[in-house]
Amino acid sequence: MKTLLTENEIAERIAQLGEEITEAYRGKELTAVIMMNGAVIFAADLLRKINLPLYIDCFSASSYENDRSTGKITVRSALKLPVQGRHVLLIDDILDTGLSMKYAVHYFLELGAASVKTCVLMDKMLESKQFEHADWVGFRIPDRYVVGYGLDSGEYYRNLPYVGVLTD
Ligand code: 5GP
Ligand code: MG
Repeated sequence: MKTLLTENEIAERIAQLGEEITEAYRGKELTAVIMMNGAVIFAADLLRKINLPLYIDCFSASSYENDRSTGKITVRSALKLPVQGRHVLLIDDILDTGLSMKYAVHYFLELGAASVKTCVLMDKMLESKQFEHADWVGFRIPDRYVVGYGLDSGEYYRNLPYVGVLTD
């Protein structure tokens, strides 16, 4: 395993993101939506750096199967809390093809959200993406399959406290 982002680097960046998001949503009705399962660790840390009253909910949709993008999205679990008229912040682990994010943004706008913004820990900066820019990006990284800090390989490694690239 080669370390790409250390625990410290991640924590420092999340503190900055938390401050920026706090300023952006001051006085608004924020619903933070965690994109399961990959964003669970990132969101847990980020949400504790957002100094605002907010709702937290989870959304499960996936384009990945067995470490590869299948190119189509399946919704596995929808939200439990109301979305209509609320400002939705989608929190995800990583922007790869952007298919999941593009799908989720439309999904929440159609449910009547007042606004939908996006925050990702990592952006792979692929040449052609379905969804070009998240509103907040923790780190821009090379196009490698990464694990740890919520991200898996075959469901393992999610609990690593750092982000790494698997080497064989
Ligand atoms: P996209 O729809 O942008 O292609 O893929 C988004 C989802 O695929 C991410 O939320 C994440 O769960 C998964 N994914 C994309 N790239 C990686 C990667 O490098 N490592 C891992 N573990 N998951 C990834
Ligand atoms: Mg994901």
